Amino acid sequence: MDCTGKILGSKNGFDILECTVCGYAHSFPYPDPSLIEKVYSEEYYSDVKPDYIKRMEEDLDWWNINYDQRYDILEDNLGKRGSILDVGSGTGYFLKRGVDRGWDCTGFEPSKDASQYSIQTLGLNVINDFFNEESVRDIGLFDAIHMSQVLEHIPNPKELLHNSWAKLKENGILCISVPNDYNPFQLILRDSMGYPAWWESPPHHLNYFNMESLKKMMIDCFFKPIKSTVTFPIDIFLMMGKNYIDDDDLGRQCHNMRMEFEKQLNKAGKNNLKNNLYDSFSELGIGRELIVFGRKISA
Ligand SMILES: [Zn+2]
Repeated sequence: MDCTGKILGSKNGFDILECTVCGYAHSFPYPDPSLIEKVYSEEYYSDVKPDYIKRMEEDLDWWNINYDQRYDILEDNLGKRGSILDVGSGTGYFLKRGVDRGWDCTGFEPSKDASQYSIQTLGLNVINDFFNEESVRDIGLFDAIHMSQVLEHIPNPKELLHNSWAKLKENGILCISVPNDYNPFQLILRDSMGYPAWWESPPHHLNYFNMESLKKMMIDCFFKPIKSTVTFPIDIFLMMGKNYIDDDDLGRQCHNMRMEFEKQLNKAGKNNLKNNLYDSFSELGIGRELIVFGRKISA
């Protein structure tokens, strides 16, 4: 494809191109696919995210509040609890929550470590593979597909959406979550406060979405967006002077504060207030991750 557009930044030998052909910003060139396969099948959780499983376990009550919000939206729009496929299911805790709520759950996870954990420790139905046309041929159709923190990592996000479309039942729902990069807080930090563009991280993050470009890609792939929101704008701590970049302890403290904020809202029965607040952030382009639900429409 003849990718072209404004260069937003450069790092690790890659440019980040605001590509007018693809419709979203991405690394240029894309790294070699064999490098990507190696990272996610062998090294990701041991080298890139060594404390990931331990921290998931510690933070599980907070994760479950967030997972419940996604399942609530799916159940409201499907009118039932059905079957769900989680692409890039990681340790499996999203699916575990689904099983506990009565969903029929399947996962695809390329990492050996993470998929083994989800199968052996959580007892889930997870396939240790990448989600592609070949690997999904015989797995049937689903009411819902979830993919959290996946599309930013791969060189062919539209292909993944096409494969998802093919694996959803009629009127099925796709839920996507990706980082919200080049967001207004990040640009203030970079342009006015002297921060580097720390979110630019090829070859790990290859694609960089905002709400508009994510929705456009979904529409291009025959999904009608039916609900969109964001997660807590964690970069607000940087603007308040807490420079957690490259400081894992401080990063953990900021994460704990945002968890506490959300857990207190939950405990007070004010999840609606939280949801309305984050929907308003979303209107302003603010929020650390984008979450969009799209319904399958005919191609
Ligand atoms: Zn492109």
